Amino acid sequence: MALNTTEKREQRTCNFCIDINKKSNRNNIFLEVYEKTALIADLSPLTIGHLLLIPLIHETSYANALASDSLIIYDIEECLNAVKMKEQNIIISEHGTGSFSAGTSACCEHAHLHIIPPQPSATFSDLTQRYIEHLGKPRKLDKLSNLIHFSSFSYLLLSDGMSNHFVWTHNDKTRSQFFRWSYNNCPTAKADYCWRTSFNRADAYKTKSKYQKEIS
Ligand SMILES: [Zn+2]
Ligand SMILES: [Zn+2]
Repeated sequence: MALNTTEKREQRTCNFCIDINKKSNRNNIFLEVYEKTALIADLSPLTIGHLLLIPLIHETSYANALASDSLIIYDIEECLNAVKMKEQNIIISEHGTGSFSAGTSACCEHAHLHIIPPQPSATFSDLTQRYIEHLGKPRKLDKLSNLIHFSSFSYLLLSDGMSNHFVWTHNDKTRSQFFRWSYNNCPTAKADYCWRTSFNRADAYKTKSKYQKEIS
């Protein structure tokens, strides 16, 4: 998909793109590099094992990435299978279209799937209920690759990586970092969640050493 001028500017200043183009210490940044995506530890993890899967080219959502190259779904599946060998359950979240001008609750404008183990107070079903309370009834996808139909939407995805894939359309009331708020069970708190102030380097390092050891 051709990038417009704003998107090209975003790409130049995008931290993920800067990391992707940094050939020298790629191995320090990425836990695994697949054909079209890379797996990294979330810099502000909600728990140990909080991962992000990012496309190697700048896309603002996985729906857009699939529209550009539908084969990226095989990369996603390969990564999820590798993670599922290590985690009993996972929650997958995307909160694109990651362009602030388009309206989003995403952390940044480069598409990323959050892959995170559930907690007793944050199971897949807890999160689904919290999303429904705030965003209404979701659209259910038969398979993850059907996200391709949302390439012109700003959306929120929740998936259990098995057969439950739910999509909500982003609206102006969806707070920044809604996924992180929901995982922490505090979506009605007033202040915006700021991943920078909750930056947890220790857990990011623990995630990194766990996955570098276990996946490779
Ligand atoms: Zn980027
Ligand atoms: Zn995010």
